[in-house]
Amino acid sequence: MIYHEFAHKLDMLDGAVDGTPPLRDRAEYRDWVSICTREYQRLRDDTEKGRSSFLNPYGATNEAEFFAVATEQFFDQPKLMIQHAPDLYRVLKEYYRQDPVKRVAPGVKG
Ligand SMILES: [Zn+2]
Repeated sequence: MIYHEFAHKLDMLDGAVDGTPPLRDRAEYRDWVSICTREYQRLRDDTEKGRSSFLNPYGATNEAEFFAVATEQFFDQPKLMIQHAPDLYRVLKEYYRQDPVKRVAPGVKG
């Protein structure tokens, strides 16, 4: 939950609550938008069709909630994200400059 609210605060820094926080350069924006849009659509699709996803279905509400839910997942269950959405994991890793999967001990559910 802390990560969720933290993500919303970061998202708001550029004045638009749209699931895209301020990024470093145009290449990062391009990468972010294409990957997050694709994963958001996939989650919406899964949710509509009643399929389970590695992400909380609440993230299908809108792009801002998607970013918050993805951030929670990234920090809380990084292994699951790498398995299901390696690109999403990569953009979040670059954005947060953290690699939480490395903090998960072998054999521990993550
Ligand atoms: Zn939220």
